[in-house]
Amino acid sequence: MREAYLDNSATTRCFPEVVDLMSKIYLEEYGNPSSMHHKGVEAEKYITEAARTLAQILKVKEKNILFTSCGTESDNIAIIGGALANQRAGRHLITTKIEHPAVLEAMKFLEEQGFEVTYLPVNERGVVSPQEVADAVRDDTILVSVMHTNNEIGAVQPIEEIGRLIKAKNPSVLFHVDAVQGFGKARIFPKKWGVDFLAVSGHKIHAPKGIGFLYIADKVRVRNLIFGGGQQNGMRSGTENVAGIAGMGLAAKMLYQDLDSGLERLYGLREQFISLVSDIPDIQINGPRGREGAPHIISLTTAGVRAEVLLHALEEKGVYVSSGSACSTNRPHLSATLEAIRLPRAYMDNTIRLSLSEMNTEEDIRQASDALHELIPFLRRYTRH
Ligand code: PLP
Repeated sequence: MREAYLDNSATTRCFPEVVDLMSKIYLEEYGNPSSMHHKGVEAEKYITEAARTLAQILKVKEKNILFTSCGTESDNIAIIGGALANQRAGRHLITTKIEHPAVLEAMKFLEEQGFEVTYLPVNERGVVSPQEVADAVRDDTILVSVMHTNNEIGAVQPIEEIGRLIKAKNPSVLFHVDAVQGFGKARIFPKKWGVDFLAVSGHKIHAPKGIGFLYIADKVRVRNLIFGGGQQNGMRSGTENVAGIAGMGLAAKMLYQDLDSGLERLYGLREQFISLVSDIPDIQINGPRGREGAPHIISLTTAGVRAEVLLHALEEKGVYVSSGSACSTNRPHLSATLEAIRLPRAYMDNTIRLSLSEMNTEEDIRQASDALHELIPFLRRYTRH
């Protein structure tokens, strides 16, 4: 059966070029970058080159790139490491209600340690008001965390404006941005935008799972959370994942080489899908409209059809999607994002997420639309009986 993989915000397939490069590193250039001999030096070069590539894309310096194991770890270092290192200046943090658990749970941990956290609402399209963020900043605020692209509905936050307003109000406040869903799908310039931390994950951009990075701006104080041999200037001990780092660097390079045409194609596929399903009665697309949101995420509510049932029925037809957000399948509670955009309670269980990548084609979109046209009326009948 033909497969249409439309769950790319959960994870992506690796670029074959990335696997080839990693395979070469695993089999031939497998040295430890801390070793002093030739094999170590070779391994170190891969790390330097990946840092250079990522730094060029973000228009920052190589030394500002810290390699981690995933987006979650990057978010944790920024929030917990940033808060612990700066708590003398205050113990207040600000975030939004629609962040990923990697941010929200880190905030919860800090609350348990006596920090205070303000959770800001978003509008019905999933966007936070920059003025409201700035208004929430106080003299004792040490860190603000706002995601670039929401993983459930694709809302894109006005990061540049938020950065400008919060720094105008309190120049010492640190600004963290979870760009796990935005990197590779937008041009992102942390230095220009006043961003101090930026979290990215490899497996969302056609690199493997188990690799990520955190941009840390110059002169930002951050407490390391892992102790050991002092790799990466003591900020994150542990032998570097050389193959993963090199793979992530290559994947990023490939995506950004031709970003504009890639995004154009994704927006085209997204629009095509929305227009193909628009004649199905009682469905709705949640969150941003047209090009105001991310090019790759579609949140679709199908009234009267449970997301889980639809997901498995689609799977039978070779179409892979997720219910709400795949990162939340460990937690059966309602989606904080869908709640925050005030989606009626009855619709929350009826919402699936389709997410595209560079590897999707028009055929995938048609396959998904055909399957939905066939399944939704059938499942609605079935639900009523
Ligand atoms: N932040 C966002 C917005 C995400 O979508 C995800 C994963 O889906 C993460 C963080 C966590 O990334 P990772 O799976 O690399 O830990």
